[in-house]
Amino acid sequence: MSRIVYVNGEYLPEEEAKVSIFDRGFLFADAVYEVTSVLGGKLIDFDGHAARLQRSLGELDMANPIEIEDLRQVHRELVTRNDIDEGMIYLQISRGADNDRDFVFPDAETVPSSIVLFTQSKPLTQAPAAKTGLKVISIEDIRWGRRDIKTVQLLYPSMGKMMAKKAGADDAWMVEDGEVTEGTSNNAYIVKDGRIITRHLGREILHGITRAAVLRFAREAQMQVEERAFTIEEAQQADEAFITSASAFVMPVVEIDGKTLGDGAPGPVAQRLREIYIEESRNTAS
Ligand code: PMP
Repeated sequence: MSRIVYVNGEYLPEEEAKVSIFDRGFLFADAVYEVTSVLGGKLIDFDGHAARLQRSLGELDMANPIEIEDLRQVHRELVTRNDIDEGMIYLQISRGADNDRDFVFPDAETVPSSIVLFTQSKPLTQAPAAKTGLKVISIEDIRWGRRDIKTVQLLYPSMGKMMAKKAGADDAWMVEDGEVTEGTSNNAYIVKDGRIITRHLGREILHGITRAAVLRFAREAQMQVEERAFTIEEAQQADEAFITSASAFVMPVVEIDGKTLGDGAPGPVAQRLREIYIEESRNTAS
């Protein structure tokens, strides 16, 4: 069965879905995106993703082509039509397709934003890496200065994953001015003496929806949370480390730049937070 995707108001088999070669997402990376996970056929934290989407659009002065409640329905419809139990829904909104290539933003009245959504079926709760943990390397963070806006400028994160792969690792943590910003597609955490440490919010990192949920659950469970920057050296001396993202949930990290953390197995705090996150998400997904 071919996947049913959504393009500018229409549900279509993926091979029939098309966007213009003049689409500004394609030509200028002038587009924002969201990834919402599906658990038991329901959406995890749709409201959080919708709020961040509105913010990303606002920061870039891009028109939203769809009401949020309609967007929720499109997400649900795609889950149903593609029979998704666990997986993700990718959403992209670009500043549309003018009839030529021009750096100047087109008038939103005449050139509407374009919107595309598609599903990805994937086991999330039983991800094998949750048992073994990830190996990460550090790389310099040379991305642009507005990483709090979720744009599709993902070339450097993609290169970072390739650098990790080449080094025999799973992912890369990016470092700016000696301090870890975040992972290529996730937020980064260390745990020392029971305290959970993760970089404070700002323009340097994406404000993860999973990060917000996990920190809330950690505080509710009386765990200590410190929102501050840390170095790779501090991370290598930590008791444990982990990452969070909508699709990875909470994923343990067991090695940083070749240095094994603790006994090299996923740590108890990361494992506990993963359990809590999955349980809470099952209870609240809608
Ligand atoms: N940072 C970056 C750079 C990301 O790409 C992502 C995932 N898109 C995250 C953090 C995690 O965000 P979320 O928890 O909302 O998936």
